[in-house]
Amino acid sequence: MAKKQNKKTVFRINFSWFYLILVLGIGYLILNNQGVGPQKVEWAGVKQMILDGDVKEIHFIRNDYKGSVTMKPEALGKYSELFPGGQVPAKSPHFTFLVSDKFDPEAEFENLPVKLVMENDSKMWRNMIDWLIWPILLIVMWVWMFRGMSGAMGGKGQGGAGGGIFNVGRSTGKLADKNTVNVTFKDVAGLYGAKEEVMEIVDFLKNPKKYTSLGGKIPKGALLVGPPGTGKTLLAKAVAGEANVPFYSISGSDFVEMFVGVGASRVRDLFAQAKEKAPCIVFIDEIDAVGRARGKNVGWSSNDERENTLNQLLTEMDGFGTNSGVIVLAATNRADILDKALMRAGRFDRQIHVELPELKEREEIFNVHLRGLKVADDFEVEFMAKHTPGFSGADIANVCNEAALTAARRNKNAIDKQDFLDAVDRIVGGLERKNSTIMTPAEKRTTAYHEAGHAVVGWLLPYADPVFKVSLIPRGQALGLTWSLPSERKILSKSWMMDEMCTLMGGRVAEELINGEPASGALNDLERLTGIAYSMVQYYGMSDKVGQLSFYDSTGARGYEMTKPYSEKTAELMDSEVKSLVEEVHRRTLKILSDNRDAFENVAGILLEKEVIFADDLEKILGPKVKTDK
Ligand code: ADP
Repeated sequence: MAKKQNKKTVFRINFSWFYLILVLGIGYLILNNQGVGPQKVEWAGVKQMILDGDVKEIHFIRNDYKGSVTMKPEALGKYSELFPGGQVPAKSPHFTFLVSDKFDPEAEFENLPVKLVMENDSKMWRNMIDWLIWPILLIVMWVWMFRGMSGAMGGKGQGGAGGGIFNVGRSTGKLADKNTVNVTFKDVAGLYGAKEEVMEIVDFLKNPKKYTSLGGKIPKGALLVGPPGTGKTLLAKAVAGEANVPFYSISGSDFVEMFVGVGASRVRDLFAQAKEKAPCIVFIDEIDAVGRARGKNVGWSSNDERENTLNQLLTEMDGFGTNSGVIVLAATNRADILDKALMRAGRFDRQIHVELPELKEREEIFNVHLRGLKVADDFEVEFMAKHTPGFSGADIANVCNEAALTAARRNKNAIDKQDFLDAVDRIVGGLERKNSTIMTPAEKRTTAYHEAGHAVVGWLLPYADPVFKVSLIPRGQALGLTWSLPSERKILSKSWMMDEMCTLMGGRVAEELINGEPASGALNDLERLTGIAYSMVQYYGMSDKVGQLSFYDSTGARGYEMTKPYSEKTAELMDSEVKSLVEEVHRRTLKILSDNRDAFENVAGILLEKEVIFADDLEKILGPKVKTDK
C-alpha cells in the first residue's frame, strides 16, 4: 500500500524582509524629518498672508479642521523670522493651521484671492504608518529573537523535529540510514581487540535468533573508552555498516540545555525514534557530559538537570527489552568519572578500550588514508609510522590530508616524504610563521640558545627522549621548537621524570647562562615542569617526606568539593617538596650545561646559522645519544 505523504507548505518569514522593512522605515523617517518642517500659525495670520497676496495654495482637510499653506516662492523670504533660525523650509507646505469646529470653510474662503484645495478626509494611512511602524518593528524583532532562541534550543533533528520552540524536547540526534552508512571494518585500521569485541555486536544484530534461542540475552550497550580521535565514532559507524542497520548519533552535550526537563525529554524521544527503526545502533558521543558520577551535594541545583537526564537514560536502557534490537554504543575518554550505575549489568556492561595506535597500527592507518593519494616513490610508510609516535588516527588522517595540500601548493605531481614530514611538523608545532622579521636578532639569538639548551640536556641525559630535530622557525606561539621522539613507554620511572624535567629546564638555564637573567620564553616549559613535579609528589608518591600517598581523583567528583583531602600542613609540605624537586632539577641542568658549555654554544651557533638542525648534527658535536636500557 502506498503511503500518502502529507506535504505541508510552511510559510517562512524570510528575514531579509525584516532588514528591508527596517531600512525603509528608517529611510522614511529620515526623509520625513529633513530640514525644518512647516510651522504652526493662527488662522488670522494666514488670512493676512492671503490678503497680502503671498499665498500660492491652501490645502484644507475638512474633517480634521486642519489646513496647510504653500507660499509663493518670492514671498517666502518675508516670513523667515517665523522659522527657527530664520531658515525657510525647502518643501511645501510652509505653514499649517488648526481651526475650531465652528469654522465654516465655504464662508471664510469665499472671497479670498487664493487657490483652495478642499478634502474631506486626511491621509489617514500616512498617520497610521507613522504610528504603527515602531510597534511593527518591535514585533518583528521579537519574533526574530524568539526564532533564533528556539533554533538554538530545538535544533533541526531528523525525523521531523523542526527548530520551533515547541520542539525543544525533541531529540537532536542525526540518523544515517542503513544505505548511507558506508563505513565497514575495512576502513578501521588497527584496533584489533576492539574490532573483535564489536564484531560480536554485529553478529547479535545480524542473527539475534542464534543467541536468543539458547536463552541468552543480547547486550544493550557497550562503552568505547579512549582518547579523542582514536576512531571510536568510526568503529561505531562500522558496526552499523557491517550489520547493515541504521545509525543514530548524538553527542552527550546535546542533552544538556538551559531548560529544565529538556535533557530527559530528548533522551525519551531519542529512544522512541530508535525503537521505531530497530534493529539499529544509537551512538552517544562524549557521554561524560551527562554520565558524570552524580554528586552527593544535593544543594547544587546546576547538577539536577544533568542528573535527571542521566536518570532518564538509565530508565530507558532498563526499559527496552533485551530483544528490541537497539544497541547503544557510547564513547568517552574518561570512563573513570562515569556514574557507576551506567556500567551496571544490563546497561553499558561492556567496556571496549580504544587506545592510541602502536607502530604497526599507525602503519595500517596510514595505508587506509593513503588510499586515494598520489604518493612519490621515495615514500615509506614505516618511516612515517616511526615519526608519528603518540599520534591518534585522526592526527594521521590529518597528516595525510595536510601533506596532499602542501604538495599541491608546491605544484608537485606526487606527495613526497618531505611533504609528509612538514605536515607532521605543522600538526605538532602549528603553522610556520613566514615573516620571521618580527624576531629581532637579539631574540633570535636567545631563542637559539634556549633551544640548544633543551637539545643538549635532552641528548646527554640517559632517560630523556631522543631529540631528532631542533628548529628556529617560529610556529604558532612558539619562537623555536625542539622535537623529540617519545618512546612508547607505559610506566614512567622517577629517573625518567627527573630527566624530562631537566630537559624542560634546559631552555631556562641556557637563557640564564647567556643573558645572565631569565626571560619569559620559558613559560610553557615551566608550566609542564610544574605539572610533572606536582604529579610526582601528589599522585605518584615519589616524595620521601610526603610518603606513599596519592591524592589522585579517579572519580573526577572532587572538583565539586570545597575541602581538600589533606591537612594544611600536608599542603605546605607538598609545596616545599615540589620546590626542592625543582631546585634540584635546576642545579642538575645548570651543571650539565656548564660542564658542556663549548658543545652547547657550538649547537646554538649552528642553529643560528642553519635554523634547522637534526640528530646527526647533534651527534657530531655531542657524540652518540646517551641511553639507558631500563
Ligand atoms: P573519536 O570518535 O574517537 O574522537 P573518530 O572516530 O571521530 O574519533 O575519528 C576521527 C577520524 O580519524 C576518522 O574519521 C578517521 O578518518 C580517522 N581515524 C581514527 N582512527 C582510525 C583508524 N583506526 N583507522 C582509520 N582511520 C581512523
